[in-house]
Amino acid sequence: MVDEAPEKRFILDVHLGRLAKYLRLCGFDSLFSAFFNDREIIEEAVRESRVILTRDRLLLKNATAATGYLVKSQYHEEQLREVFEALRLREHVRLFSRCITCNAVLEEVKKEEIADRLLADTKKYFSVFRRCPGCDRIYWEGSHYDNMKKSLASLL
Ligand SMILES: [Zn+2]
Repeated sequence: MVDEAPEKRFILDVHLGRLAKYLRLCGFDSLFSAFFNDREIIEEAVRESRVILTRDRLLLKNATAATGYLVKSQYHEEQLREVFEALRLREHVRLFSRCITCNAVLEEVKKEEIADRLLADTKKYFSVFRRCPGCDRIYWEGSHYDNMKKSLASLL
């Protein structure tokens, strides 16, 4: 039987920016803006069937038509563990598939196409690259991901 669970999508409140980056690193569609107000978060959650992640009990109380999860910890690594367990995310993880900055799905890009943007060592030691169609950032396994992946190791 194929896993037909719908894609897990989130919208996070203003306190959860770090968590949003980690969820994106794991491939989850995670909307976050420091400028969303409560009403916008709720409307967006309903419109796009997103799960609200928040540390604000009141926000969830008002979000009657949307689903949500109240994040208890104030530390991002603990938050990630909480959310992973509560929403059973582990088997849906797709590392290195989404931009941690703007949430867009990354595209594969040939090394030749971006060679002029890479440092000599990066060019020498890495061969798989992805580009963000949203903000044009270049990603490779040794980049921003390295430290974040260490924090994830115990979860995955
Ligand atoms: Zn991006």
